Formats: sequence, C-alpha cells, structure tokens
Amino acid sequence: IIEFAGVTKRFGALTVLDDFNFSVARGEKVTLIGPSGSGKSTVLRILMTLEPFQEGRLTLAGIPYHEPNAGGPFKASDGHLRQIRSHVGMVFQSFNLFPHMTVLRNVVEAPVRVLGLPRGEAECRAVDLLAMVGLADKKDHFPAQLSGGQQQRVAIARALAMRPRVLLFDEPTSALDPQLVGEVLSVIRGLASEHDLTMLLVTHEMRFAREVSDRVCFFDKGRICEQGEPERIFSAPEQPRTREFLASVL
Ligand code: ATP
Ligand code: MG
Repeated sequence: IIEFAGVTKRFGALTVLDDFNFSVARGEKVTLIGPSGSGKSTVLRILMTLEPFQEGRLTLAGIPYHEPNAGGPFKASDGHLRQIRSHVGMVFQSFNLFPHMTVLRNVVEAPVRVLGLPRGEAECRAVDLLAMVGLADKKDHFPAQLSGGQQQRVAIARALAMRPRVLLFDEPTSALDPQLVGEVLSVIRGLASEHDLTMLLVTHEMRFAREVSDRVCFFDKGRICEQGEPERIFSAPEQPRTREFLASVL
C-alpha cells in the first residue's frame, strides 16, 4: 500500500534520504527504529504530504505523490495532495490538538470540513471513537484540561475519524510521563489487531515494537540497514550498527 522507489530527500545541502526504497503491504504493522537524525520522521512527514522530495517515486494505495502535469517533476496540486491525505492519518509526539476546541470538536472538525460529513453523523462517530479510546466522559473538555495521555488518545481518535487506510505514529509516547505511556500503548495495541489497517510506527518503546510489529526496520543515515521479524531483529541482529544501536537503547 506504501511504496518508496528511489526517493531522495534533501534539506538544502543535507541529504536525508538517498535512493530510499521501502514498501509496506496492506494491513502490515511496521516499526521504524534508529538513531536520532537518521530520517525516521522525515519518512512519515513525506507520507503525510508535509514534506516534498526531490527524486524518485512514491505511491500510496496506488496513487502517485506527484502528478505528471502539475508544473514540475515533483509537484502536485492541492486537490491531489488532499486526495492522498484522505487515506493517511498521523499521530505526532506533541498531540497537536486544537486548543480552542472541545475534545468532541477536535474529532469532528476534519470529517465535516474535509470529508463533507453531516455534523450530526460526524458527532455520532466521534462519540464512538472517544468511547473506544476510553474518553467518552471527556468530550466537552478542552485539551488543556486533560492529561498528556488523554490528549494523545484524543489525537488518535481524531486521526481515526478520517477513516484512514494507513496510520502513522511518530513517537506517540515520548512526550508523556512514564505512568501515562501504558494507556496510549494499549489503545495502539488495540488498533494493531485490526486486520485492514496499515500502521507505520516510529517508537523508542522496544518491547512494544516487538509485541505489535510484523516487521521492524532499523534505519540508519537515511537507509534501512536491516529489517525483519521483531523476534529476529531484537534477539539476533546481523548488522554491527543494529547491534550497537540496540545495545544503547535496551
Ligand atoms: P529523531 O529520532 O531525533 O526524531 P529522526 O530520525 O526522526 O530523528 P528526522 O527528523 O527525520 O530524524 O531528521 C533527519 C535529518 O533531517 C536531521 O539531520 C534533521 O536535522 C534534518 N531536518 C529535519 N527537518 C528539517 C528541516 N525542516 N530543515 C532542515 N533540516 C531538517
Ligand atoms: Mg523524529
């Protein structure tokens, strides 16, 4: 469902992804691990259409990220990017909720504005999603009245409200106090059991990665240095760089 073919991404003189090849199958749960600055967030941000890239080809559910006639080799119209974005949701480290909106409105707003769902219907679904993440009773609160773990669960409900086929998580628990990590991981664990949902996760929670992933990719300097089933990667890494990294985080 995701396919990077020879993608190169630069920030000025800095090449973050160099001829990057990577694909994820429909329904697969994949975790990216690797050192700081290796380009993990960049991969997710490109997928979310938050960053352009300079070379190569990327498709999501068969849709290419650039349009042949958009005025440049890696350009796409806003409408085209919106179409891509309708298939993918992202949960950030820092929640990114709208502070001036209630929890319910945070979840309802995008489906109403972007998908054109009638507000009543969007609210019904939002209430269900909030119940699923254990926050039915908080729907009229504002983000500032919630704990970090609760805010992150709202952010997950908000991403799901768009019914994405692909869900991206960029270190969803690293801004949380340790005692709040578990509640967020348990929501993500629940999602990981959904057969059709494709998940791409960046995390430093190695035990969690081992538990929910079909595949773990060790990312180093803009390339996948080693990948495989979590059991294998964590118990018998083949590459020295992977071993070194795991030794530093485990
Ligand atoms: P971390 O584990 O610390 O989150 P990461 O693997 O997610 O790291 P990225 O955020 O993808 O790393 O960054 C990869 C490289 O690209 C880094 O060297 C970073 O400084 C650089 N970079 C990221 N965003 C920008 C930007 N907007 N402008 C310039 N350089 C950037
Ligand atoms: Mg990052």
